[in-house]
Amino acid sequence: MKIQNYIDGEFLNPIADQWIDNYNPSKGEVYGQIPDSTKEDIELAVTAAKKAFPAWSNTTLNERSTILSNIAQGIHDKLPELAIAESKDNGKPLSLASAIDIPRASSNFQFFADAITQFSSEAHESVGLNAINFTLRQSIGVVGCISPWNLPLYLFTWKIAPALAAGNCVIAKPSEVTPMTAYLLADICNDAGLPNGVLNIVHGLGQSAGQAIIEHPDIKAISFTGGTSTGAHIARTAAPMFKKLSLELGGKNPNMIFSDCDYEKMLNTTVRSSFANQGQICLCGSRIFIEENIYEKFKEDFIHKVSQLKIGNPFDKDSDVGALVSKGHLEKVKSYIDIAEQEGGEILYGGNIVTVEGSENGYYLQPTIIEVSSNDCKLNQEEIFGPVVTIMSFKNEDEVLKMANGIQYGLSATLWTNNLNRTMRMSKQLETGIVWVNTWLMRDLRTPFGGVKASGVGREGGFEALRFFTEPKNVCISYD
Ligand code: NAD
Repeated sequence: MKIQNYIDGEFLNPIADQWIDNYNPSKGEVYGQIPDSTKEDIELAVTAAKKAFPAWSNTTLNERSTILSNIAQGIHDKLPELAIAESKDNGKPLSLASAIDIPRASSNFQFFADAITQFSSEAHESVGLNAINFTLRQSIGVVGCISPWNLPLYLFTWKIAPALAAGNCVIAKPSEVTPMTAYLLADICNDAGLPNGVLNIVHGLGQSAGQAIIEHPDIKAISFTGGTSTGAHIARTAAPMFKKLSLELGGKNPNMIFSDCDYEKMLNTTVRSSFANQGQICLCGSRIFIEENIYEKFKEDFIHKVSQLKIGNPFDKDSDVGALVSKGHLEKVKSYIDIAEQEGGEILYGGNIVTVEGSENGYYLQPTIIEVSSNDCKLNQEEIFGPVVTIMSFKNEDEVLKMANGIQYGLSATLWTNNLNRTMRMSKQLETGIVWVNTWLMRDLRTPFGGVKASGVGREGGFEALRFFTEPKNVCISYD
């Protein structure tokens, strides 16, 4: 099947009539084509967005909120269809797409439908000077939203919903590897009453369609989630044009386990935080540090639990681990496993490509546990973004803190301890945007989301996202 761009409320072929193959990773087969859009398609989308902006930015908050709620409901109503599409495009278990990805996409729209009705700005009285200042929070205009393949509709809507809620018109590009649910979203937006041109979804490669978005002079802000090197390229391109930038980038997150934690809860959660979505979540705890007095016990129990995970076709009900997103990605992840030995790492479990019966050409890899002896090895320093974790022991709080922070990334950290003093000390010293204590990936959509260091610039979530997608203007009124 061929999917199309969604521009000015219409479904269009790419102007140059060039197409890209779309793969089903669980089968290793091409199952469709997507537009290989160029500058000309982006130009068309920007023209439509500019035309739609004056009316959209002047809709009442109630009208805007109602349309966004309709979209949330539309996603909810089509949950089974969207979950199947996500699973087929990405390789993730259907159970995960049905329980997490699609419900969260609907919540993203509902959350910002509500949040925009509560968003306010400040006033400052210049006491004694007979003046009052207030802050107007105005829509920016046309903004760009670019998202990755690991949580396709979940992250696509996480950007689009606040951008639209704040009254902007959007040019959005999903990953070329997982375009399907973004395509289906277009229909839902039409049915929800979103006016033409307010949201334009353009498909294509990063270096052409994506590049045209970040370079376009009329696109005033870019919200990007993806790899750190792509983020650096976007910053280099967009900064001289003085665009507003929000960059959510890579992670290599520490999972620090102290012996005073709730062991069973920690063990079950650590299996999930290591291998959910085949380890392809920027928040996965891929560097596991265990206090030395429970290291051997943890090692044995963790290997046992992980060995029970069932690798299989994402559409099988009992599959815990599906396929990796692409052949190229499978090869990249495998290449890290292959360097383990050179670096003195020991593969404790997994490490092999798997053939799944009936899906022989799919991209399956065993969940893999590697024991390392230093935090400085490549396996601990570079983002692998697959079902591979390292484990090593630590002696005390200072040592583990040093290792947790001893990396270019700073997205999230997980801490397992029941010691409140340690929780506070470490939370303050960890160089990350998010710290989970005795839990993982528990999300409250009002909280600031994002990373520090090479994991990004800016925050998404709650009012932070609405602040990003609006321009503050100070109005100072002097009176007699
Ligand atoms: P990627 O950087 O290769 O691509 C992300 C998006 O950027 C895609 O839509 C791609 O087409 C586009 N793109 C690529 N080059 C571009 C260019 N020159 N101009 C404009 N757009 C361009 O990332 P990926 O492989 O799709 O995703 C995996 C990465 O995303 C991992 O590093 C992961 O950690 C990161 N990630 C981060 C978060 C977070 O919230 N911090 C969340 C999910 C994923």
